[in-house]
Amino acid sequence: MMSGNGKQGKILVIGGGISGITAAVEAAEAGQEVVLVEKRTYLGGRVAQMNEYFPKLCPPSCGLEINLRRFKTSPRIRWLTLSQVEKIAGGPGNYHVTIKRNPRFVNDKCTACGACAEVCPVERPDEYNFDLGFTKAAYLPYEMAYPSQFAIDSAVCPGTECGKCVDACEYGAIDLDMKPETIEVDANAIVWATGWDPYDATDVAGLGFGTYKNVINNMMMERYASVDGPTGGKIQRPSDQKGIESVVFVQCAGSRDDNYLKHCSGVCCMGSLKQARYVREQYPEADIYVFYIDIRAPGRFEDFFVATKNDEKFHLIKGKVAKITEDSNGDLEVVAEDTLSGKQVKQTVNLVVLATGLVPANGGAVQIEGELQRDEHGFLTIEQSMGGVFAAGCAKRPTDVATCVRDATGVVAKALYFCGE
Ligand SMILES: Cc1cc2nc3c(=O)[nH]c(=O)nc-3n(C[C@H](O)[C@H](O)[C@H](O)COP(=O)(O)OP(=O)(O)OC[C@H]3O[C@@H](n4cnc5c(N)ncnc54)[C@H](O)[C@@H]3O)c2cc1C
Repeated sequence: MMSGNGKQGKILVIGGGISGITAAVEAAEAGQEVVLVEKRTYLGGRVAQMNEYFPKLCPPSCGLEINLRRFKTSPRIRWLTLSQVEKIAGGPGNYHVTIKRNPRFVNDKCTACGACAEVCPVERPDEYNFDLGFTKAAYLPYEMAYPSQFAIDSAVCPGTECGKCVDACEYGAIDLDMKPETIEVDANAIVWATGWDPYDATDVAGLGFGTYKNVINNMMMERYASVDGPTGGKIQRPSDQKGIESVVFVQCAGSRDDNYLKHCSGVCCMGSLKQARYVREQYPEADIYVFYIDIRAPGRFEDFFVATKNDEKFHLIKGKVAKITEDSNGDLEVVAEDTLSGKQVKQTVNLVVLATGLVPANGGAVQIEGELQRDEHGFLTIEQSMGGVFAAGCAKRPTDVATCVRDATGVVAKALYFCGE
């Protein structure tokens, strides 16, 4: 199917998470050429960092895989990793876009055999695992990454001075002389699908994030629970690798608070309920406490909430956490006011998980004719005044994967109007 007027155009998609991948495949299957620009070394966005999806609790690789299969086999999609848009000129139906692609230092001959990492003498914090471990400077972003290719982190690699990876690679896949490239693309319409970053709770008074090792955030919890995570899937205390007898989930950690993050991210309650199930699976006897303002599990998610709540060692406490302190054993005391009883509650546990919210990802320093319009929380507004520019998924508002997929599909239908003469 071609666009409304039957002509073929080109759509630029910025961001290669589930929203961007969906936009790309929908546009391509509607007959358009697509260029997708992703700043990381791999496609999949935040979903690729999840252990399981609520509500079905299947691995995210399933959902991603379906769309990635359509993506990989489409002759109309061109994608660039390690790339960001620098400039957008022109107007609706006729944009001219300048993209900067940073070097991967590994070419398409890479078979992901790992010989380069074996000999690489340098380590770097593993950002895929939220710095909960290290990789070599020559690294595969994660086991199921697409593209399945190593990359070399130039921030720590000594380059040709070392060159051990070049000698170790029998496929000639490493090129330490790769340089940044500038790529020019013409596009009729642009879809921003730049997604979200986890809110940094370091500054939230009293919660101890960044100070106490056993206070982690919800994305770290996803990585702990994942088989390809830093502990091979075992949920444990960061300070001493001990198992969990009790855990507190702190809802709205910084969120819905005028001092920090005003908005509700909409998915953190379901995220914690899902993670309570991860804990229960590994620790049948653990006490699980959830401190909350309101539990937001709307519509079809209500069933998931009710089923989780039926667990007799799952305790809900309606109250905002005021203070967390860690003792010399690494145990944490969580203090809150139970707003239903009016009494102060103190709970000592092994691990605290902060349900931190979603903030709009930094879109990079793009020069653009006309401002991108954002709401008071920094998310892109639904319709941009520059016709032909659209936002999709969590770039627009925090939401779950199914909503992102529907949204990206709808946005492409609008973008098609600008394709062709
Ligand atoms: C703890 C937690 C658990 C969750 N669990 C679930 C769950 O179980 N089920 C569910 O449905 N939802 C869940 N969610 C929500 C889910 O993560 C989001 O719905 C999903 O990530 C949104 O996808 P997206 O593509 O819009 O954004 P993202 O996943 O953030 O993808 C955006 C992509 O754009 C790229 N990008 C950003 N800026 C630029 C730029 N300037 N240039 C180029 N590329 C750029 C990023 O690198 C990224 O690849 C959870 C959220 C949290 C916080």
